[in-house]
Amino acid sequence: MQDHAHLLTTARHAVTAASGVCRRVQQRLDDLRAITKDDKSPVTVADFASQAVVAKILEDTLGPAKLVGEEDADFLRDPANRAQTDAVVEAVQTYFPELDEAETLRLIDTGNADTAGDQAGGAFWTLDPIDGTKGFLRGQQYAVALGYIEGGTPTVGAMGCPNLPTDHAAPLNTPDAHGCVYLAVKGQGASQVSLQNPDADPAPITRNDLAAGGPINVCASVEKGHTNVSDEDRILERIVERTDHAVGTPVRLDSQCKYAVTARGQADAYLRLPTRPGYVERIWDHAAGAIIATEAGCTVTDIFGSSLDFGQGRGLEKNKGIVCAAPRVHALVIEAIEALGIKPA
Ligand code: AMP
Ligand code: MG
Repeated sequence: MQDHAHLLTTARHAVTAASGVCRRVQQRLDDLRAITKDDKSPVTVADFASQAVVAKILEDTLGPAKLVGEEDADFLRDPANRAQTDAVVEAVQTYFPELDEAETLRLIDTGNADTAGDQAGGAFWTLDPIDGTKGFLRGQQYAVALGYIEGGTPTVGAMGCPNLPTDHAAPLNTPDAHGCVYLAVKGQGASQVSLQNPDADPAPITRNDLAAGGPINVCASVEKGHTNVSDEDRILERIVERTDHAVGTPVRLDSQCKYAVTARGQADAYLRLPTRPGYVERIWDHAAGAIIATEAGCTVTDIFGSSLDFGQGRGLEKNKGIVCAAPRVHALVIEAIEALGIKPA
């Protein structure tokens, strides 16, 4: 039996440390663009540095850990990418001054764990070192998302949202000065802590309880390639036509911050509707967010209402799209999807 409290403390420490590293890289965006002559390289640098820091904290605290991370170090081992490699090591050293290049690359590669041959009961970590790369580059929302999977279900989740304000009244498209971290253990609820005071006791969060006739507010991706906007419109129109709920214009933000915003009751639903038939959602894009939202009282399924199966390797092979919402809103959305015949084309 795993000590989930210990796993959560470790995951919290890891995403808090990596969030700080990402934040420091983000403060040097222009610098890094100049060094590497590549607009995308700041996010590349933060991505690798974040994965190295999380991998080190997991390994130091828990021993060799099975980690499925989005990145591996092949790119950094290519001499053509020397400038990025130097910048990654420099970023890692803002948190772990003693880590050298070889150790940094080794740690990044610990994220290569292969879970394909695992039994259904296998346990492993999954990490998106920077989810929402477009948001990171725009100076908007992104997340460091770490989930622990047991038997195909997330049981621990920790997510750093370095640009997300805790104040619901603050604008979501401008970066907060501190950001926050979300935490959850299966069966024990979800909580949040501001990065202004990262060691404070986390405060419980709960989803919104939609009032009869109350407005439904939805959030979804900024990137049009990541969710089907015309299907979003059709679903929301149907809800307006058939219920007494008004529906606001969807709020658009990058990354798993959408799960957090729904979990804390600021939005009633997070919709991710397939844009093309072949796309399989990546487990690291959903593990942490899904357990945080579930533990805050949301229902999280795919667009057919099936629960998410994280035990199929690196992809959610058995699922299509995501519907995360307070239970009554979830039921309305699933009914609309079914009635409208929405499915990957
Ligand atoms: P978001 O910030 O919510 O728009 O999602 C960012 C994530 O979308 C990235 O981490 C990618 O893994 C994922 N992604 C890439 N292509 C697609 C696609 N065609 N449909 C859905 N998600 C995608
Ligand atoms: Mg991602």
